[in-house]
Amino acid sequence: MSFLELKGIEKFFGEHRAIKGVDLSIEKGEFIVFVGPSGCGKSTLLRLIAGLEEIDNGQLMLDGREITHAPSSKRDLAMVFQSYALYPHMTVAENMSFALKLAGVDKQVIKEKVERAAEILNLSRYLERTPRALSGGQRQRVAIGRAIVRAPKVFLFDEPLSNLDAALRVQTRVEIAKLHRELGATTIYVTHDQVEAMTMADRVVVLRDGAIEQVGTPLELYDRPQNKFVAQFIGMPQMNMLPVAEFGSYADTLPAAKQAVGGHIGVRPEHVIVTNPGEGQLIATVDFVESLGAESLVYATTPHGVQVVSKQSGRSVVHAGDTIGLKFEQDWMHVFDSEGQIASH
Ligand code: ATP
Repeated sequence: MSFLELKGIEKFFGEHRAIKGVDLSIEKGEFIVFVGPSGCGKSTLLRLIAGLEEIDNGQLMLDGREITHAPSSKRDLAMVFQSYALYPHMTVAENMSFALKLAGVDKQVIKEKVERAAEILNLSRYLERTPRALSGGQRQRVAIGRAIVRAPKVFLFDEPLSNLDAALRVQTRVEIAKLHRELGATTIYVTHDQVEAMTMADRVVVLRDGAIEQVGTPLELYDRPQNKFVAQFIGMPQMNMLPVAEFGSYADTLPAAKQAVGGHIGVRPEHVIVTNPGEGQLIATVDFVESLGAESLVYATTPHGVQVVSKQSGRSVVHAGDTIGLKFEQDWMHVFDSEGQIASH
């Protein structure tokens, strides 16, 4: 049995089945990211694990013990919230030691644990300040410190970076990843940001409409998405999705393309090469070009009105209005059937 096991977990809000029979096995020490669009149920699933919402159906096991209906305080999990949820009138040290104090832990032991956590999180200088006198990033570190001192079996993070500005978000993201490497603690992290998911996770769980679409390492999801939804959710700019019919007779040469009649061929922008008209598999007109310095994005439209993005390193030699050819790298074509499921990679 895995360290943390979710078996057929379900949650209803009134008539609405917000979580639909989720099965998931998490190993000790893994960094798992729940990702998905707004409303897909990722926060609810995390709150069910935390014991902040009641599980309606299914079973939750942690380290061999059933905790499906155990009160939150008896689950040996620590949650870090987006809002930090710090006590404003307490100092950083008091905030971090609060739970241990309640649990009756020896004063000296508390002091050592808080100092150690503060050291790890670069907070030693701020222990006597109140949260008001800290930056957003420092507050978030205090919230993490409060979880660390408890040495829980599992850390739960609910969109912890969404209140930080872009630069601080990147910095804190790196710090959390580093922290995980140092502590090796089992972690579940919720975000709607696929870049956070890709950069932090050992395994990513993609959720949609209360159910799991795919679980895999970041590169498995990127290279071998099981369906159109995952293919287009992971990766920026999105994977191009062309109706098989768009390829005309060329489609016959594609593996499994025949089963995919009525389906789509997905190709990531970096696997679409801009050529002279006639040299590619399709002809298109350039709509506009984005030059990002090190790379360029060429947005083009085929005669049937299908939009395609090509990503190339360096500067683009084509301009809006140009007629171009588009060449799709054969090895990187993903064929999806009419249901949106993968037919062949
Ligand atoms: P976001 O990224 O916007 O936070 P999410 O993926 O975390 O979204 P949840 O907050 O888990 O989504 O919500 C999942 C679904 O359950 C949504 O349809 C939401 O409206 C519904 N829901 C969540 N909490 C409640 C509640 N307390 N009462 C009723 N419905 C709820």
